[in-house]
Amino acid sequence: MSTELLRADGIGRRFGGFTALEGITVSFAAGELTSIIGPNGAGKSTFFNILSGTLSPSTGTLRFKGQALNGLPQHRFVHRGISRSYQITNIFPDLSVHENVRVAAQAMSVSYDIWRRRADLVELSERADAALTAVGLIGKRGQQAKFLAHGQQRALEIAIALVSEPELLLLDEPTAGMGPEETKDMVALLERLAERRTVLLVEHKMKMVLGLSQRVLVLHHGRLLADGRPDDIRSNPDVRRVYLGQ
Ligand code: ADP
Ligand code: MG
Repeated sequence: MSTELLRADGIGRRFGGFTALEGITVSFAAGELTSIIGPNGAGKSTFFNILSGTLSPSTGTLRFKGQALNGLPQHRFVHRGISRSYQITNIFPDLSVHENVRVAAQAMSVSYDIWRRRADLVELSERADAALTAVGLIGKRGQQAKFLAHGQQRALEIAIALVSEPELLLLDEPTAGMGPEETKDMVALLERLAERRTVLLVEHKMKMVLGLSQRVLVLHHGRLLADGRPDDIRSNPDVRRVYLGQ
């Protein structure tokens, strides 16, 4: 029997008169790698933003380890153990790879002091290096972020999300814009990360998702169309209809 980590009940989101999400009820088990797929405009990013605290739902409730999350600002989500990746635009191009992660570690640490004890700074620096090791970028720690290849910048985004040591890691299209080689490296990284924490991915590369995930949710027009193991999703007639030709 698996432990429930995150639970969404009746989640809906409207933008003006437009309903982007409606009636999503789903729970995520600790230790699983789950992917959310669906065609463009299905509501994947909206749902992802709600689960990570970036956007509040119009209806429904969210619970993490049994505790309500509704109404909490995003940094409280991080302190509870939920962390998301940010887009490349959130990386400081002129700072080093290590500095990017250390700045994130510093921003997320609970202390409000500007002046820190030397030991705290050493600890932040070590945490940044641990996150860089986890994503395979420790060898690039001194390099300016702008000189990283695209795939390495995406790995850096993940390192930034990892520095808070989240129990639940949320990643929105980590392979976006990648060719086959970079995608392969990212898939290997995702598999490694999922060994030690719960991972939730949003992706539209159906084939990749089916090979990587323990569980797949399919969104379509803001509703949950299917939810199951990759084999069930592959043979689901509703999913095949939506992904006709894929
Ligand atoms: P996906 O990530 O699956 O491509 P999104 O969650 O980004 O889909 O969008 C779902 C729907 O909600 C789309 O029709 C999109 O145009 C709409 N939408 C998303 N964000 C906003 C917003 N801030 N304002 C208005 N409409 C939005
Ligand atoms: Mg999206």
